[in-house]
Parts: sequence; C-alpha cells; structure tokens
Amino acid sequence: MEEASRSDDPAALRPHHALCALFFEGRGYSPEFVRNMTSLIAEPGRMLRLTAGCDALCQVCPHRRGEVCRDEAKVFGYDKQVCELVGEAFSAGKTLPLKQFCQAVYDRILQQNLLAEVCGSCEWAKLCQEKWADGDFNRLLLASQPAD
Ligand code: SF4
Repeated sequence: MEEASRSDDPAALRPHHALCALFFEGRGYSPEFVRNMTSLIAEPGRMLRLTAGCDALCQVCPHRRGEVCRDEAKVFGYDKQVCELVGEAFSAGKTLPLKQFCQAVYDRILQQNLLAEVCGSCEWAKLCQEKWADGDFNRLLLASQPAD
C-alpha cells in the first residue's frame, strides 16, 4: 500500500476521500493522519489511482485494521455512492490527478446538494456540510476554479 508522502507511482485513493480532501482543515484521526492528508492535498496535480479498499490515507489512520477500515461496511457504502453518482470518472482502477477526482465530486455531488446523502452518517458530516453551506472548501483542489 502506498503512502501519500511518496510521489513516484500513483498513490491509491478510495473514492469518498475526494470529498474529505475538499473539506480538510487540519483535523483528523491522529497527528500522523493529519500530516499525511496535508501532504496529499499539497499536490493537486498528483496522480492517484482509485481503489476499492484502504488507500494512502488509510495507511496511517488509527482506524485501519490490516487491509480494511474498522468501519469498512460504512465507508464502503460511501465509496459505492460516490462511484454511482460520479460515474465513468470513478471507475475501478481509474488514474487521474487529485484535482480531477475532486472536480468530479464537486460537479456531481456537491453542486447537486448530495453531500448529506453520500456520507451523512460520518462523524465529520456536520463539519463538512456546514463548510459547504458557507462556501468554505479547498478550491485549489479543483481543476477549474469556480466563481465565488
Ligand atoms: S476512517 Fe477508515 S476509511 Fe477513513 S481514513 Fe481511516 S481507515 Fe481509511
């Protein structure tokens, strides 16, 4: 499994983490998780490869249990929803720059007001939903910059 701090081969990304990236504000499951996420989002042009399982962010997450999340059923459901809503851009094994994955969830989920439907049961959901309502998300992670 790849770590987000390496920039040679495409790191793995599980689909719903494109949403997490857009609302990340320096908080997370552990200091190491925060450092790893910070490193990942610092490179919007970095190539990433979609995975159905644990990814470069899970790698240093205290909730990882071997090759799965301790809440695998729940997060698998988020990933499934993202793939269904976004469509072709989120097909299995797809490799794209991070900003293209984030743009896809921005267009097909956030702009359609489907955030709560995708991951409303997440412990961070209230934070992300409030940030979206305030227009407070990481625009640097989008391929095309939206008007304010
Ligand atoms: S909570 Fe689960 S899905 Fe999210 S980063 Fe941690 S291990 Fe991965």
